[in-house]
Amino acid sequence: MVTEKEREQTAAAEPLPYLGRSARIVGDWRSVDVEQTPHNKNNRGELGKALYYYRNNRVSPDPLSRIETSALSADRRNTFERVLAQAPAGAINPERVPVPDPKAMTAHIKRVAKYLGASDVGIMRIRAPFLYAKGAYPDEGTGAVATDSSSLTPEEASERYPYAIALVYAWDYEMGRAHRHRIGDAAYHFGAEHLRATYANLASYIKELGYSVVQRVATPMPVALAAGLGEMGRHGMLITERFGARVHLGSPILTDMPLVTDEPIDLGVTDFCQVCNKCATACPTNSITTGGKAVVNGVEKFKINWETCYRLRPHVVDYWSSCLTCVAVCPYTKPNVWWRTVAIRAIKWTPIPLRGLVTRPLKLIDDTFWGKLGRKRVRFMSYDSGSLKLPDGTHVGPEGDTGYYYPLKENARRFDLLKAKLKSKPDA
Ligand code: SF4
Ligand code: SF4
Repeated sequence: MVTEKEREQTAAAEPLPYLGRSARIVGDWRSVDVEQTPHNKNNRGELGKALYYYRNNRVSPDPLSRIETSALSADRRNTFERVLAQAPAGAINPERVPVPDPKAMTAHIKRVAKYLGASDVGIMRIRAPFLYAKGAYPDEGTGAVATDSSSLTPEEASERYPYAIALVYAWDYEMGRAHRHRIGDAAYHFGAEHLRATYANLASYIKELGYSVVQRVATPMPVALAAGLGEMGRHGMLITERFGARVHLGSPILTDMPLVTDEPIDLGVTDFCQVCNKCATACPTNSITTGGKAVVNGVEKFKINWETCYRLRPHVVDYWSSCLTCVAVCPYTKPNVWWRTVAIRAIKWTPIPLRGLVTRPLKLIDDTFWGKLGRKRVRFMSYDSGSLKLPDGTHVGPEGDTGYYYPLKENARRFDLLKAKLKSKPDA
């Protein structure tokens, strides 16, 4: 067991990890206590009855939503995450494949991960603060958790499993435009399931090569930043060069396989966020700051109010489950057309002191071509974001190409308005 004094001596002897310009470690950065993460707090009832019942007792009226996530399922066994979580962990091949050239093995593992479905892959060297303070994050898993992982301290785990493999999966851009709708929910949640399957397959492959893997012990965002997968935006999401913010991070795999690490990247996200503010303006719960960065747990970054964001969910569950407005409006989350590539490279290749000269024109271009809110009507199977179906079977909302979105900036009051509207109907 590593004592607090030893931990401080080790931390003082090592340089601070570099996560890139979007989230800088400037002080005493400590492991996150997994017990203080949102779902855990909610599962203990510490966030109030509405959120507790949302996560544990609510059933979505939509059948596709009921299999997307166990939180809204009628029977959790009908969700892929639960099926995978209950799968027993497989054995490690005792005949370990030697790795004389970690660079070649790294290239191979990245190819395999992409073949298995990852949109991108990054590798970084684990240190204790990247790991949860107490064991594994108890989310629905992949069967890849080593039996001893929850009994190790972060220091011990970072020694035993020194490399993290972080994957991202990009969900469908067009479907994601129907955010705050069942269509956007489907893109988001089934993207998460796809990534779960990819991680599980990759973990099994590494075990078949004779190496250990653990999962759900590392905090995804700092690992993704250190692994060079992107930068953190004002909205608190990872922004990747190719897919913007429409990516799932999932839970990185830790392994003892010798690998070669990547470096954090500079896309100019911090420079663009300073003039953009689109996510903060569009956020229906005002959870995103329009101000500067703040230092949280020794890390300087844009601070999100996760609790007000989370508190929206019980109010909307009858109509949709994942807001994602901030992701959808983000200029980086646009399809890979030539002008987007030019814009992103223009920021990236401009020297940092001169970036202010290009960010304002690029924001103007984004507003002009895509609109400040980027609303779009999306049709997907029998779903249509053009109107909102009320519980009584009637529809509200415009015809045309805009799509129906709840009015912005009324916060939770808009649901009171909706309820009042329903009550005012004679047969409601
Ligand atoms: S998901 Fe919605 S409520 Fe949450 S921060 Fe993003 S825009 Fe705001
Ligand atoms: S919407 Fe604008 S301010 Fe928000 S994360 Fe994206 S680039 Fe930054």
